Amino acid sequence: MKFKKIDHIALAVKSLSEAIKTFKNLGFTIEEPHEIPIMNVKAAFAKIGESQLEFLESLSPDSAVSKFLQKKGEGIHHICFEVSDIQKTLQDLKQKGFQLVSEKPTQGAQGLVAFIHPKSCHGVLIEVVEKNGY
Ligand code: ZN
Repeated sequence: MKFKKIDHIALAVKSLSEAIKTFKNLGFTIEEPHEIPIMNVKAAFAKIGESQLEFLESLSPDSAVSKFLQKKGEGIHHICFEVSDIQKTLQDLKQKGFQLVSEKPTQGAQGLVAFIHPKSCHGVLIEVVEKNGY
């Protein structure tokens, strides 16, 4: 198991359009927002060198992002590392005793993704992604 790079850092925001305005003002080019129905969020990516920023706005009061905002307010929601083989990575993580949010990867916006529970990683939600077509 080896992480290749930081794929993106995700920020939970109250308003995606406001966040887009702010980060455009900082000089970022923001991609067209898209909905991720399985997470009940609207998301947008901005490239920064080899990595990206991801902005997440909740679409429902009971989504994980909405709960995060209620508890912690706006800020860094998760860090995503790219891996070459997500199945193998999840197997290794389980073997090492990490708690996974779900056992199986799901199809995200840019590839297969899975999450390590913040409880087993010092309060940080970690996402791993195996990119397809990127
Ligand atoms: Zn992400």
